[in-house]
This record gives sequence, C-alpha cells and structure tokens, in this order.
Amino acid sequence: MRSDSAGQHISGAERIVREHEVPAVCAALSERALAHPKGMAENTFITVEALAESDILHVPSVGVKEEAVQSPSQARDVIEELLRPMTAYSQVVIEGTFTARNMRGAMLIAADTGKRCEPDAQRGVRVSHMDAYGATEEEFKGKDAAREAIVLASKVAAHPDVLAEVCVSDDPAYTTGYVCIDDTYHRLPHIKEPGSDEGARAFMIKPGADIEALIDYLENRAVLVDFEAEQ
Ligand code: AMP
Repeated sequence: MRSDSAGQHISGAERIVREHEVPAVCAALSERALAHPKGMAENTFITVEALAESDILHVPSVGVKEEAVQSPSQARDVIEELLRPMTAYSQVVIEGTFTARNMRGAMLIAADTGKRCEPDAQRGVRVSHMDAYGATEEEFKGKDAAREAIVLASKVAAHPDVLAEVCVSDDPAYTTGYVCIDDTYHRLPHIKEPGSDEGARAFMIKPGADIEALIDYLENRAVLVDFEAEQ
C-alpha cells in the first residue's frame, strides 16, 4: 500500500500473506492510510500480487540491541561511532538522513566516495516485497512501526552489498530510529525531537557493488524474514 496527499508521500506498507487473508489485510492497510499522523491520505493505492512459495527467499532476522540514548545529539554520536570503521563519509550519511524530507524510498550512499548512487535522488529506492515469518505478537507488542522496521532492515542487511543502514522515521510522533550494521539493529530512542518532520533512510553501499542488481533485489525480490532464526 502507498498513499499520498497533494503529491506528498504519506505512508506505505508491505505484507506477504496467505490468499484467505488478503481482504482483511487490504482493509487494515487502507484504514492505516486514512489515520496516519502525517495527515489523511487523499490517494491510496493498494496492489495485490500473486507469489508462488518458490519465489520467496527466507532470511534471518537481525538481532536487536537497545542503545541508551537520551537526545538527538547523543544519537548522532552513536551513529558516527558505528559507521566510522566502514567509511570516511559517516557525516555525509548522518546529514543526509537528518535533512532529507518526504522521500518515498532510501538513499544509496557509496561508502568509498560518499556519493549518492540511485537513479532518482528525490524518490530514493523503495524496499518492497517483504514481511515477517514466524513472529509472535509478543515480539512486537502490537507496534507496527517496530515490526516493519526490523523486517525492512533484515531484508536490506541480508544483501552482501549493503554495509549499513541509518533510519530516522518521518512520523512526527515517532522519535525512535536505528542503525543496522553487522546484522545488529541498534535501536536509538530520542533520535529526533517530537513534532519534527525530519526523517529519511540511507543505505551505505560496498565499493564495486552492482547497483542495478541491488536495486532489483531491494524493490522486487520477495523476502520473508524468519524470526525463529534471529542472528
Ligand atoms: P518511516 O520509518 O516509515 O517513517 O520512514 C522513514 C523514511 O524511510 C521515509 O521518509 C522514507 O524516506 C524511508 N522509507 C520508508 N519506507 C521505505 C521503504 N519501504 N523502502 C525504503 N525507504 C523507505
């Protein structure tokens, strides 16, 4: 599902479900577009696609680590420390993630140059075709945002050309972000001030990566994230 108002992206979500669950899931996704904290969506688009079991790649869930962060500046320090061993451009990744607005997808930033490498810099690359497998309600305590972020991060982390991911939610009411690196999802509370419309995602890419193949994996490969196989 994706929704927008006056040309601005409002929300998006992905599910991979059994055939009999499709009507209820479509209803839940359309309700969500209408009740988003960024405002009621004028346009909601829901696409349903058939998938064969054999089309689906299973990947393990990343492990989750809670970081004791009290403020946005402390969150930036933790991100910087985690990224520094992988790139000389950690500040480019941090600034990019904190200053972009209203992107539908994620920025791809090359670790060796700090340059963007996706074809449409305003849109970014939208990760799609993923869901959780074998996750209990207890694991997420009913929080969609947390569940979906871990699912997305696990799909992204499973690709060998992605070195790290940084995420600041663009939901003004959701101030928890994360860095995912080496198969660990570092959860960062207070990454931004409440009410702020800051928010974006960046993937740091390995030198020499085949960008076209990576984008095809992120956008089109159906992936179920296995929570029973957490790393
Ligand atoms: P959210 O965590 O949904 O608040 O999204 C935060 C930011 O991450 C958005 O502003 C987008 O730039 C980006 N984003 C959201 N969903 C996706 C996705 N499926 N794939 C790539 N980037 C995304």
